[in-house]
Amino acid sequence: MKDGKIEDNWADIAIERINKFVPNAGQCSACGTKGTVTLNGDLVTPMIMEPNGNVGIGGQSYPQVMLHCNRCGYVRYFNYVLLTAEEPELNLDADGE
Ligand SMILES: [Zn+2]
Repeated sequence: MKDGKIEDNWADIAIERINKFVPNAGQCSACGTKGTVTLNGDLVTPMIMEPNGNVGIGGQSYPQVMLHCNRCGYVRYFNYVLLTAEEPELNLDADGE
């Protein structure tokens, strides 16, 4: 996101970031088939459950990128805001911990 808005080329940006951060992103993590994972053409958002149990309509939402497997239908989501945020500096020692 830039200036609080979703870019027109959000799908290209999401694919670049997922491929950067997620090993074997094109392989389904459920059925294990390679090359069947596809980015859905729309951003989606979960509904927000309020403390009183009601589902919140309107207000803040969390855009998510949805990937699905064309073979088994397994679906996974990435928070688009976090996916495209600046990378945090990691304080890793020589062992990577
Ligand atoms: Zn699958």
